[in-house]
Amino acid sequence: MDALKVDGWLRKAVRTVFPPRCLLCGESGANNRDLCPACAEALPWNASACLRCALPLPVPATCGACLQKPPSMDETHAVFVYGFPLDRLVPRLKFHNDLAAGRLLSGLMAEALGALPRPAALVPVPLHGTRLGRRGYDQALELAAPLARSLRIPLLADVLLRTRATAPQSELDAGARQRNLRRAFAVRADAPLPGHVALVDDVMTTGATLEAAARALRRAGVSRVDAWVCARVP
Ligand SMILES: [Zn+2]
Ligand SMILES: [Zn+2]
Repeated sequence: MDALKVDGWLRKAVRTVFPPRCLLCGESGANNRDLCPACAEALPWNASACLRCALPLPVPATCGACLQKPPSMDETHAVFVYGFPLDRLVPRLKFHNDLAAGRLLSGLMAEALGALPRPAALVPVPLHGTRLGRRGYDQALELAAPLARSLRIPLLADVLLRTRATAPQSELDAGARQRNLRRAFAVRADAPLPGHVALVDDVMTTGATLEAAARALRRAGVSRVDAWVCARVP
């Protein structure tokens, strides 16, 4: 049996012993997801947004900010608008390494992003080594790895490097975020980079982190960089 078959068999076995249960309200899950139909119905999909930065808009278009100063991302897709229940699920993944939350979120991302123009690789936005060490895991990778598996896109988990410890972005205003992130990323010298990649991250706030990461990839010769994120702060 190949690894994929074993994986599928294992998942079925686990599902038999632990049937899907809604991570938000505890009701029975549906569609093989840990989410009940009522909670699934209420998910805040980011259905209409700026194609460049995923800012929610009344109709899909390019927003004013992106027209003025186009980001380094060709396209940004945020599956959800950040708010309930993402403000419950993402921190469960981020601070408690809740694998069920990670599985649910990456599964929903795969459903929403599967039909997009297909990058040749997914590149998770890395945490700096010291912060990773303190917390022990990396939520962008926790989302990107199962996403890559289910969409069958190669994962390049170690081509993008954080070059210096940046202060946590949440403690800074927008200007300070940009300065904090200048040259914060580097691309490994011998990295096998294809022409089109998608960055993967959990939450997009101002987009400064993705911008810095996309710039590093472009400097390294990647001609098209998209960003796929779980949720965008509106
Ligand atoms: Zn529910
Ligand atoms: Zn925009």
